[in-house]
Amino acid sequence: MQLNEVRWHPLLKQWIIIAGHRGKRPWRPGERGERFCPFCPGAPETKDLGEWDVIVLPNKYPALSPTPPKPMEPGSPLFRVIDAKGVCEVLVETPKHEGDLCDLSLEHMSKVINMFKREYERLSSLPFIEYVAEFRNKGKEIGVSLTHPHSQIYALPFIPPRVAAEIESFKEYYEKTGNCLLCDILSEERRIGKRIIYENKLFTILLPYYAMWPYEVHVYPKKHLGSLADFSDEDSLYLGDALRVVTATYNMLFERDMPYIMVFHQNPSKKKLDYYHMHVEFYQPYRDKDKLKYAAGIEWGFGVFTYDGVPEVKAKELRDACKKAVDKRLDKVLGECIG
Ligand code: ZN
Ligand code: ZN
Ligand code: FE
Repeated sequence: MQLNEVRWHPLLKQWIIIAGHRGKRPWRPGERGERFCPFCPGAPETKDLGEWDVIVLPNKYPALSPTPPKPMEPGSPLFRVIDAKGVCEVLVETPKHEGDLCDLSLEHMSKVINMFKREYERLSSLPFIEYVAEFRNKGKEIGVSLTHPHSQIYALPFIPPRVAAEIESFKEYYEKTGNCLLCDILSEERRIGKRIIYENKLFTILLPYYAMWPYEVHVYPKKHLGSLADFSDEDSLYLGDALRVVTATYNMLFERDMPYIMVFHQNPSKKKLDYYHMHVEFYQPYRDKDKLKYAAGIEWGFGVFTYDGVPEVKAKELRDACKKAVDKRLDKVLGECIG
């Protein structure tokens, strides 16, 4: 069914994207051989693009589009609805069908970051966009339907609730103290040191005090940067280094390829909030070598997370894996494991 609209959840005060056509998405076509993969060189989707390292393609099953159909019903005070107006893209990081971010060279990775930056700026300038959500899902455990390395970009007509909640906290903290919440958290984490995993000149990788997922990892810029639009080429290079280190660390942790979710939290498109500090978050669904952590009753039904384990112990496991990854897996790094 072609129904495509954005409905308001009046109890939780958040928008839900209804995308009737996405039910028909194919499941992991690349697994049957490279010639079925839409992102490999030579596929109809990419063959007119010539040589490429990193490309952005339209999402073939977009949840939002610049020219959406009209909502099924006009909406009412209780059942509000808006057009599913937005842009959904796929950012293909490499022409190679296999691998992870850590398998790209440092130079290649900084091109990837620059592409995220370019799309953040370009999509943010569209009049109907309020927020550019950039993220990467990896692994069948979290439902990734294509195996070829890729990230996604959803340019949304609203600010997502998780970012809105962060903005509220940054604002409140700034009004109370005159400081940036994340700058203060980062200097406190660096002082304590227990949860820091790796640092380069410009970024810190840590398992935050308030981790919700067992091996959750955050990447915080040491400089107060609001979004990728504030990045210099040097910032992109050092963020690229940090993202390679996180993914190599995950893949080293249980000595196999690990699934994860990576998200960029940045300023909204139309508001440059001086008190907001961009960052990258990684969530990983395993709580142990072969045990998955599920968001079930207490987490999903109530929004209360239980952390299975001790964050400081998990941080140490990650730091040990990071050391191994830096020694064995990565050809070049710009920083060092801490602790
Ligand atoms: Zn492929
Ligand atoms: Zn800051
Ligand atoms: Fe965040």
